[in-house]
Amino acid sequence: MIYLDHNATTPLHPRVFEAMLPYLRERWGNPSSPYRFGNQARAAVERSRRRIAECLSCSPTEILFCSSGTEADNLALRGVAHALGARGNHIVTTAIEHHAVLNTCKALESEGFRITYLPVNEDGIVQIETLASVLDDQTILVSVMHANNETGVIQPIKEIADIARKRGVLLHSDTVQTVGKLNVQLADLGVDLAPVSAHKIYGPKGIAALYVREGTPLAPVITGGAQEGGLRAGTENVAGIVGLAEAVALAVEHRETEGKRLAILRDRLEKGVRESIREVRINGARAPRVPNTSNMSFSGVDGESIVLGLDLCGICLSTGSACSTGDPEPSHVLMAMGINAREAQGSIRISLGRDTERDDIDATVQALAATVERLRAVSSIQGSTEPQ
Ligand code: PLP
Repeated sequence: MIYLDHNATTPLHPRVFEAMLPYLRERWGNPSSPYRFGNQARAAVERSRRRIAECLSCSPTEILFCSSGTEADNLALRGVAHALGARGNHIVTTAIEHHAVLNTCKALESEGFRITYLPVNEDGIVQIETLASVLDDQTILVSVMHANNETGVIQPIKEIADIARKRGVLLHSDTVQTVGKLNVQLADLGVDLAPVSAHKIYGPKGIAALYVREGTPLAPVITGGAQEGGLRAGTENVAGIVGLAEAVALAVEHRETEGKRLAILRDRLEKGVRESIREVRINGARAPRVPNTSNMSFSGVDGESIVLGLDLCGICLSTGSACSTGDPEPSHVLMAMGINAREAQGSIRISLGRDTERDDIDATVQALAATVERLRAVSSIQGSTEPQ
């Protein structure tokens, strides 16, 4: 199998697995228990919190554990909305966010919040001037993702943070696709809230952290016990937390060398595709992108058919977000970039990772060229036999 869908999920790194094992086997105590067996688990949670904080340049008290990137995004948006709802009801986000943010904004809209969805240009970048002009005295939060999961396009978060700070508005940035791919130094980035999801960085599924800058007003979404300072009730996933910390440490350790390696492979892939397949467009290619992601549109073919065709060759890639699989609608990200619905339907996302080698890229280019050619031939026959 050639796995080229690392933005959907990644395999568990052996070092992560090893780090987690003791907390699944022998040290299974509850971190809230008062005896030593519980304290052992509590110590592992706090050690992990310190480790993550050190890797991402923030304070351990600013790291809050929860179950997923989706939950972290929910907590950030709903948490701020409910904490500051009396001060204002306006939230600004973008048209290209992950559904974890978009659908949460929709839910907040039905609670009476006013949401502005910022457009992006044809390269997939939010226009800063637009942001400044939509902020008003009711705005409590801006949410702009750091890099897009479908195209890899990076947003100018530091500039956005400057504007938000000057206007006294909190900033959430979905960093799920950038930790391990970019140098994410949270204090430097200027954001108030940012999620990290373990399974995108060779950690286990179902564990994540939310960075909450000191002093950021936040109301809990899940109520119950006093875990995580009362902001996220529920017995901690100790093994998961230990795995997340190991994964973050690995991601930071290998980011630079791995980033350079993947950028070369990604460029090789795009060059190969351009040379062997006609009428292809690489989406967001002119914008700064994370090094592992490539999104391409092929005219006259359906992205789903390409994905299924390549699956038969043992190659795993996707049409976009894994959460949108089976959704007949074209990608909201590509549509926001001005790509028409037909072309957006003919798009695929290829995301490379630590197991990707040059041979995988070459084999993928070959299989992709053959598959697109075959699908185009079929669709032109179908087109010519369609009743007039
Ligand atoms: N945000 C972005 C940008 C993502 O790519 C994803 C996952 O695809 C999420 C949030 C959700 O993360 P999780 O799968 O941990 O819920």
